[in-house]
Order: sequence, then structure tokens, then C-alpha cells
Amino acid sequence: MAGTAGAAVVRHTRRVPPSLPQPLDPIRAGAIGDALKASLDRIQRACDKAGRPHGAVQLLLATKTQPAAAIRAAIQAGGTLIGENRVQELVAKGPELADLPHQAHMIGPLQSNKIPAALRWADCIQTVAGLALAAKLSHRSAERPTPLEVMVQVNTSGEATKSGVEPGQAPDLAAQVAALPGLRLVGFMTIGLNSADATAVGLSFARLREVRDAVLAAGDPATAGATHLSMGMSGDLEIAIAEGATMVRLGTAIFGPRG
Ligand SMILES: *Cc1c(COP(=O)(O)O)cnc(C)c1O
Repeated sequence: MAGTAGAAVVRHTRRVPPSLPQPLDPIRAGAIGDALKASLDRIQRACDKAGRPHGAVQLLLATKTQPAAAIRAAIQAGGTLIGENRVQELVAKGPELADLPHQAHMIGPLQSNKIPAALRWADCIQTVAGLALAAKLSHRSAERPTPLEVMVQVNTSGEATKSGVEPGQAPDLAAQVAALPGLRLVGFMTIGLNSADATAVGLSFARLREVRDAVLAAGDPATAGATHLSMGMSGDLEIAIAEGATMVRLGTAIFGPRG
């Protein structure tokens, strides 16, 4: 009890502000750092094989279900981009990562009612798959100092379980999204076909590249910045890089299997 007569009350001086998470077990933090370096090597080798320059592909940490302490370890080891699937997780971990330089992307479906919360923490929404959501994002981004970065998510695999606009409709949607004043279209995102057939997986990634190339070829100044191809995960990043990925989203390769 503070002020109790006689007893010297020693208050521990906390070195970390209370919003920071508990420090991570150093062995676990080391493993995350090692996995990040190994993944960067994997990306470089894939670039070499594809005849693409090192630095052509960014690594985004797919952080769903990971505690903020694990994400801190990955950022401190050199990670610069994180992606969350759920707004709830983005909002919960945001304050705990706010002191570290990084950018946060939404890589899961976004519901309109979660837009205000998402915009408090997200630098980019990769999962724009319809004009209604884009219009709301644009409206809500009006007060931002710079437009909100977005990507159009394309369903390149035809799997019913995957979100995203059909490839045939993607160029029109991209043009409409890029025309919205609050948004800056920076590229396209897809989740590759879930298959052991590498050729078929590659075809789904190639489809995203074709969408992007068609949009750029149309020559609309509003879509000239839509260069990113966010595609490839822990199991298929080499295939995605061979097909032109500029950003791979890695979860298990960095953090291990999700519980
Ligand atoms: C989970 C997830 C990833 C990462 O998947 P891993 O196989 O763990 O690398 C990438 N993108 C999206 C959209 C995800 O949901």
C-alpha cells in the first residue's frame, strides 16, 4: 500500500510505456529475426532465378493471430510492412506498434461499418473488390493529408471461397476506384490458387499481372501508379515472383504455424 508507514515503497521504473506489450522471449524473438532473414534470402534467390533485380519485391508480414510482441520482433529485425486480416486485430495491436516505423495494410475483407476504425491504423487497403466500398473509403479519407492507398483485389483462381473482383471486371473497377478523390490506386492483390499444381498456381498469378498490364496500357493518368502486384505467400512466393509479384505476404514463413 503506498504511503504505509515505515516500509520503503520501491516503485519499479518501467522502461517501457504501458502501451507496449510484454517483451518477447529472446529465443522466440531471435527465431523470428532468423526467419525474416531466411525469407529475404528466399526472395532474393527467386528474383535471381526470375532475372529480376534485388529490391523488386517487398516483404509484407502477414500478422494475423500473432501477438504484438512477435510483430515488434519482426519489425525490429527489419520488417517494414505488416498486413492484418481483421480490423479488430489491426486496432488492438496498433497502439502497441505505434512507436515503430512501419506501414500497416489491410489484407482481409473490410466491412463498411469497420471503415472508420480501419482508417485509424491502416496505410493501405489491399482488399477493395467493389465500387461501393471504395466510394465509402474515399469519402472517409477526405480529411487525410494524402489520399488513402488502395489495391484492387482480384479473384484470379475462380475459387468460390476467394474474395475479389473477376479478372474481366477488374480494369473497369480499377479505373473507377482510381478516379475517386480520396484514394490512390497503387496496384492489385490476389490470393493464388490453392493447389499443388505449380503451373496452375502460376496461371492464377499471371492473370493478375495481365490485369495490371492492361490497366497500365490503357494510359489513364489516374491509374499510372497502379504498379504493385501483391501476390505470393509462404508456400508459393517463388511462383509469384516468377510471375511478377512486387510484394509477397508471409505469415508462417516468419512466425511459424498458426495455432
Ligand atoms: C494468412 C495470409 C497470408 C500469409 O499466409 P502464409 O501461408 O502464412 O504465409 C497472406 N495473405 C493473406 C490474405 C492471408 O490471409
